[in-house]
Amino acid sequence: MTQQDIRPPVHIPSRPLERAGTERDEPARTEPGRVRRPLISYVLPVYNEQDGIAAFHAELTAALDGRPDLDAELVYVNDGSSDGSLALLTALADKDDRVKVVDFARNFGHQIAITAGLDLATGDAVIVMDTDLQDPPRVSLELVDAWRQGAEIVHARRRSRQDTLFKRGTAHLYYRVLRSSTDVDIPLDTGDFRLLDRRVADELRKYRERSRFVRGIVASMGYRQSEVAFDRDERFAGETKYPLRKMARLAVDGVTSFSTAPLKMITRLGFVVLALSLAGILYALAMKAFRPDITVSGWTMLMVVTLFLGGTQMLSLGVLGSYVGRIYSEAQGRPLYLVREVIGGPKADD
Ligand code: UDP
Ligand code: MG
Repeated sequence: MTQQDIRPPVHIPSRPLERAGTERDEPARTEPGRVRRPLISYVLPVYNEQDGIAAFHAELTAALDGRPDLDAELVYVNDGSSDGSLALLTALADKDDRVKVVDFARNFGHQIAITAGLDLATGDAVIVMDTDLQDPPRVSLELVDAWRQGAEIVHARRRSRQDTLFKRGTAHLYYRVLRSSTDVDIPLDTGDFRLLDRRVADELRKYRERSRFVRGIVASMGYRQSEVAFDRDERFAGETKYPLRKMARLAVDGVTSFSTAPLKMITRLGFVVLALSLAGILYALAMKAFRPDITVSGWTMLMVVTLFLGGTQMLSLGVLGSYVGRIYSEAQGRPLYLVREVIGGPKADD
């Protein structure tokens, strides 16, 4: 898909856009006089969730049963689980033809699992949520309601959360640091629990960078965004699959994928160091000229050379850094712009 691939206007709830190889058969839905129900895709990353996955699936399907106005598709992505998760998911797929299971060859991480799910989801709207019941299934239906009222991206924002004090504290601080170091207006206290309109999901698929911070990319996309607040529950079973190491990596990805602030800091530091070293050089020369009696032989030269080299090196690093920053953003290869719809012109044959 390219940027030129601009499609006719889509209205909400939109028709699913046709995509090669993933044609959905729409049985009774298209018969005359009947309005097609919107198809909601769920993208559900699973990593060693054998103790909670059945409960999650039961709760989600129960919530969906209460909404006969919606069709659903559940895309479970098994992110290289080493427990019995895959067998449980396969059993779910056998029983329920709304379930699709993508089985990764190894653990690729949460953000990549989400990406794969988005690649396979075919719905008019796509909801990404965790499978540990921390993101309550009933809230996903509130996201759908906000979507039907015209939002194209609906973030689920945590009003409260039951995690450990450490996790809550670091997350609180992190979202504020992230917001201040990047130009992107990343909503505070939202994880990856959100709804994307089909158009947004299609655009998001164009972002193919490896170290990805999906929530940041989505926030940077624009479109009509809204929020639904919810209380985040405790994990239903098992432990967090985000140990400190993975959390730190995600945190770094968040900052570095939306700003070259760390690189710019080197340039600033370079200027400061150079200014200080010039002052040091002047001082050393003045000491040599006016107080030769207390100046050790060789000291002036040593000071001048060291300070000069230190200052220019730091500045040169900054210059290199600014080029590296440009290379980095080119290498990310993000789309230059995103289009909601193109209005007017000859009618596209639909
Ligand atoms: N997850 C995943 N791959 C990983 C780590 C986590 O697919 O490498 C899934 C996990 O099964 C869960 C979601 O991502 O559905 C969020 O993980 P977790 O609940 O452990 O994170 P936390 O809520 O503690 O931040
Ligand atoms: Mg969790």
